Amino acid sequence: MSHQPQQIVAAQRSQRLRAAADTEFDLLIVGGGITGAGVALEASRRGLRVLLLEGEDYAAGTSSRSSKLIHGGLRYLAKGDVELVRKTARERKAVHRIAPHLAASRRMVLPAQSRGRWLTLRAAVSAYERLGQVERRDKHENWRTRDLARVEPLFNTERFPFAIAYREYLTDDARLVVANVRAAAGHGAVILNRTRVTGLVRSSGSPSAPIIGAQVTDTLTGERFVARAKLVVNAAGPWVEDLLKMEAPQKPSMLTLTKGVHVVLPRERLPVHYMWVVSAPDNRPIFIVPRGEVVYVGTTDTEHHDNACVWPGITRNEVEYLLAAIPGQFKVDPLTPADAVSAWAGLRALVAQPGKRPSEISRSEEIVTGPGGLITVAGGKLTGYRAVAKSVVDLCGKRVAVNKAAKEEAPLPGGDFGGSATELGKALAARRALDSQQADRLAHLYGSEADQVLALGEQRLHPASPLLDGEVRWALASEDAQGLEDLIYRRSRVALYTVNGLLALDGAAKLMAEALGWDEARVAAECVKVRARFAEDLTLGEGPSLIGKEAYDVTFS
Ligand code: FAD
Repeated sequence: MSHQPQQIVAAQRSQRLRAAADTEFDLLIVGGGITGAGVALEASRRGLRVLLLEGEDYAAGTSSRSSKLIHGGLRYLAKGDVELVRKTARERKAVHRIAPHLAASRRMVLPAQSRGRWLTLRAAVSAYERLGQVERRDKHENWRTRDLARVEPLFNTERFPFAIAYREYLTDDARLVVANVRAAAGHGAVILNRTRVTGLVRSSGSPSAPIIGAQVTDTLTGERFVARAKLVVNAAGPWVEDLLKMEAPQKPSMLTLTKGVHVVLPRERLPVHYMWVVSAPDNRPIFIVPRGEVVYVGTTDTEHHDNACVWPGITRNEVEYLLAAIPGQFKVDPLTPADAVSAWAGLRALVAQPGKRPSEISRSEEIVTGPGGLITVAGGKLTGYRAVAKSVVDLCGKRVAVNKAAKEEAPLPGGDFGGSATELGKALAARRALDSQQADRLAHLYGSEADQVLALGEQRLHPASPLLDGEVRWALASEDAQGLEDLIYRRSRVALYTVNGLLALDGAAKLMAEALGWDEARVAAECVKVRARFAEDLTLGEGPSLIGKEAYDVTFS
């Protein structure tokens, strides 16, 4: 068995499908978000034969819509949940160790209006750093007006003369998922996207018989097959309820869904240098995150009463709510929805706590085993995915033989370099004569594999887009991209992190067509689909006003 990150290439899809139908696995994982991907890696690392089936694309659900922070959760400290803060704060370090490009250390700034508030925040951040065993060089800095004026001249120091700058980690959620599934494949796991589980298979006709597999549809071809496994893990995020109903139709629902929106602005409209936590009009904290040529602002937290869906709609009121606070805190002209160059919305799957407001509901995960043996993971955060994966595999160990985890955890694909991704980008710029922004972008997306990506092509597919032909070839050859949306939204991420997200679309479609044998009609359909998707997220719908609503309250995710 190879222990190198496997190239899960498109040409091998037929082999993987055959293996999925012909093998009896130890573990079948339903869902290729961060939960499923993390479990696949942990389980395959510990000797289990693993099959992961993702109905859409890896990270197509919540795991591409987060605020993209690997964070310890200061909010838990405010709620007195010290153990959770300790666990998640340490988790940040672990993810940084195995994937420095996907957990990049950044300063997050918390402003304060008064000296009293400043001192309270300092005490909270110090406690947070103690719990997270933050090293001396990474400890927070206390900034006053003169420091703020120097480091972030746009900030309104008249209203906020004080601030704390502490360390958080910026990730790329979808790429973290892809890195995990590739690493799992390197340990022998069979990984498939566009394969939907439509039913569960039991050992006998009795409705209470143990679950021993699933009915699966390959959504690319419509072909159906049965996948067999000793254990089935339900890691379907906002859709876990669908699987739970397949196991026990009468089971009361265990989830509350809440929606979170982010809006993307050109960096020049809000040219900040640091990540910020600022107050929305109703005092909820929201993040401002600069990333390359854009800066994103989010998030909201409102109840989502409809069924789970891949693309929740975004309303004008949500975007206006996120933008309203900025001009009071930064010296910039008023921002309107027309300034947005992109946006995304995602659903949090929270374990229901009746009577609680969205932001009061715990973000902790719950792992439950159902009457048919289905292991369901509900709730949780991106940040804690390794710990969740370990708990799930330990639980599996009660029913199938599982090896002890090796002490040394290998870096994720692209993570085997010392230092920071910023340094890696600088070295790449020098070595390859690239412009510094492009080199930095590639270093954060691909880590140490950026050179391999560049070896496949350094040609920009449009003069005003950073997307390279090499990235398209890489996404096809190594990252299992099946369609244009996979490439634009979840591999290269140009739809979210660039000002002209779709300029390279036609060039990318042409390259994909050559590799995947698409005809003209398919090329046109792929382009139309992505353009429609992108336009819809910027065509803001009607929705209730957010300002002053009780449903909105302090939350940090
Ligand atoms: P998902 O990513 O939704 O994955 C579930 C997958 O299952 C989907 O890809 C879906 O297609 C697939 N699936 C469903 N049904 C089937 C089926 N029948 N067959 C096959 N596949 C199926 N956490 C942090 O740590 N930091 C943050 O900054 C942060 N910010 C957030 C901001 C927002 C707005 C939101 C909504 C969440 C945020 N979170 C954050 C939480 C984090 O994003 C989630 O906890 C995490 O992504 C959940 O991952 P998951 O794998 O459980 O679910």
